[in-house]
Amino acid sequence: MIKSKLNIFIKVVLLFAVCTTTLCACSVENLFDYYLNENNVGSVYADNISAHFIDIGQGDSIFIELPNHECMLIDAGIANKGEYIENYIISTGYDTIDYLIATHPHADHIGSMDYIVSNMDIGSIYMPKVSTTTKTYERLLEAVQEKGMKIKSARAGMSIVDEEDLNVDILAPVEIDEGELNNCSIIIKITYESDSYLFIGDAEKEELSTVTADMSADVLKVGHHGSRTSTTEEFLEEVNPEYAVISCGIDNDYGHPHEEAVSLLNEFNVEYYRTDLQGTIKITSDGSRNYSVTTEK
Ligand SMILES: [Zn+2]
Repeated sequence: MIKSKLNIFIKVVLLFAVCTTTLCACSVENLFDYYLNENNVGSVYADNISAHFIDIGQGDSIFIELPNHECMLIDAGIANKGEYIENYIISTGYDTIDYLIATHPHADHIGSMDYIVSNMDIGSIYMPKVSTTTKTYERLLEAVQEKGMKIKSARAGMSIVDEEDLNVDILAPVEIDEGELNNCSIIIKITYESDSYLFIGDAEKEELSTVTADMSADVLKVGHHGSRTSTTEEFLEEVNPEYAVISCGIDNDYGHPHEEAVSLLNEFNVEYYRTDLQGTIKITSDGSRNYSVTTEK
C-alpha cells in the first residue's frame, strides 16, 4: 500500500517536472519569437512613449508603454474582452501591468477588468472613490480582494510617476459626483519631455469645468466615445490637441461619435482617428514632439 502510494507520488512529481519544463520551453520560445518578429506591435523597452488604443468595440482600453519601461492600462471594458486585452499586451512584450486605472465604474470601462486583475501581475490599481451596485463592479472588487490588493483612490493632484523627464499626473476627479459616474472619471495627463497625452475617460463638460490643472496636450483621448456632452469648443481651446482618438464601436446604439463633436475636431484642425473605422490605433513619440500614428486598418 505504502509502496504504491510512493509510486504514484514519484509519477506525479515526474509529470510535474515534465510539464514545468515544457511550459518554460514554450515561454522562452515565445520570448524569442517576439524579439525575432519584426512585425511585432510593440516597442518593448524603447525610450519612446506609445499609447495603444485597443479596439474592443463600444468601450475603452488603452495600453501605454512608458519611456521608463513601466506600463499602464487605462480601462478594460467591455465584458468578455479580458483575454483579448491580455494577449494584446503580451504581444507588445509586456507581461505585467505596473499601473492599472479604472477611470470610472461603468461596464464599458471595467467590463473585463476582473479578468485582468485575476490573470495578470498588477503593480497598483487606481479608481475614483465612488461605488455602484452592478455585478461588474462587484466582480472587480472581488477579484481585487482575492488578490490581496488595495485600491488607491484617485484624486486631482496625485502623481503616479514623478521623474525628471516623465510625469504621470491625475488631474481629476476634483470632486465626486455620486449621481453621475461619468463625471467621476479619472483624468490622466502624461508628459514626457516635450510630449503630452491627455486621457479623460467619459468626463463630461461638467467635470471638465472643475479641472484647475493645465489640460493642454498634443494627444487627446476624446471624452465619452465622442459624445457631444464632452467635446466642447471651450475644452478644445484649452487642450489644443494636435491628435485625437475616439474609442467607440461600429454602429453603436448611442450614435457615437456625435456629429457635433466630429465637426468641432475638424474646426480645430485636429487629426483624429476612430477605433470603429480604423481598429486599434497606436501613437508613439520620442519626447521631442515627433509623433507617429499607426492604425490596424
Ligand atoms: Zn464609456
